[in-house]
Amino acid sequence: MTTRIRIAEDALPEPGESTNRKILTVTLNPAIDVTYRVARLAVGETVRVASVRSRAGGKGVHFMAETAKILAPLKTVLIPDKRAGCSLADSITGAQLREWKLQHPGAMVVSYVNTTAEVKAETDICCTSSNAVDVVRSVPEDRDVLFLPDQFLGAHVKRETGRENLHVWAGECHVHAGINGPELAARAAADPDADLFIHPECGCATSALYLAGEGTVPAEKVKILSTGGMIAAARSTNAKSVLVATEIGMLHQLRRAAPGVDFRAVNDRASCRYMKMITPAALLRCLREGKDEVLVDHETAERARGAVQRMIEIGQPGGGE
Ligand code: SF4
Repeated sequence: MTTRIRIAEDALPEPGESTNRKILTVTLNPAIDVTYRVARLAVGETVRVASVRSRAGGKGVHFMAETAKILAPLKTVLIPDKRAGCSLADSITGAQLREWKLQHPGAMVVSYVNTTAEVKAETDICCTSSNAVDVVRSVPEDRDVLFLPDQFLGAHVKRETGRENLHVWAGECHVHAGINGPELAARAAADPDADLFIHPECGCATSALYLAGEGTVPAEKVKILSTGGMIAAARSTNAKSVLVATEIGMLHQLRRAAPGVDFRAVNDRASCRYMKMITPAALLRCLREGKDEVLVDHETAERARGAVQRMIEIGQPGGGE
């Protein structure tokens, strides 16, 4: 790892050369933690990635790069591998959203940040999993809300807000949807003292609440948490072991945050192939060749920026999806 960092350091532009030039979108997946560490070494403008990332909640995949470009249109935005998409962002297109809006005239559109620039341009307010509930609460009670694209996060927001006029798009992330209720129940039965950290995008979130309601798992052990919320909960938990339902890269961050706790995946196959495309080698190529550049047309970026900025104004975007 150290060698790779050193190689990448050599590839970086000279101090002073890079500071105003580029934004790199990098992964925060600690399974390939070196990539993020390398990127952080590219001091100056690249450091903006961290702050843009924490606002936008992405992990270096394409929607995140577009979001960086939307927020910083005059900067060059690079992505280490342009094939790094997101199945959740692909759950809805701009045309589908326009059609949905026609069916609900007057509704406010709240989009999870894992969406394309075209979808953000059709959106009133973006949200992350950390602030989705607050964003929806900011919409007047009598106004219909179209929430997209994640059906599990939408169901969580509906439970929390109790809003009947919240309409949820039936999209999902293939990784999180694959973490299911029966798997969670089996893991919880095998480790009855463990806390359960469940990302609201997961297919097992409803099952977790059901298990708590049935008394199968003590209710206080079930925590539905955003990515940022998981880190905070890891630091404060008294549990010796925690079952974690989200993309498995998160385990590395949790273990670093609380080294004394035994974090285990509910589904250890829950790995995102898109995030794994952002490798140290891809980052190195990106730095050396200055590509692939991510572009968003001016009009789309202008419209999308309003939705992202309204999310930031509401606050608590959190540290992750
Ligand atoms: S884990 Fe799911 S939501 Fe996150 S980048 Fe991968 S496909 Fe998209």
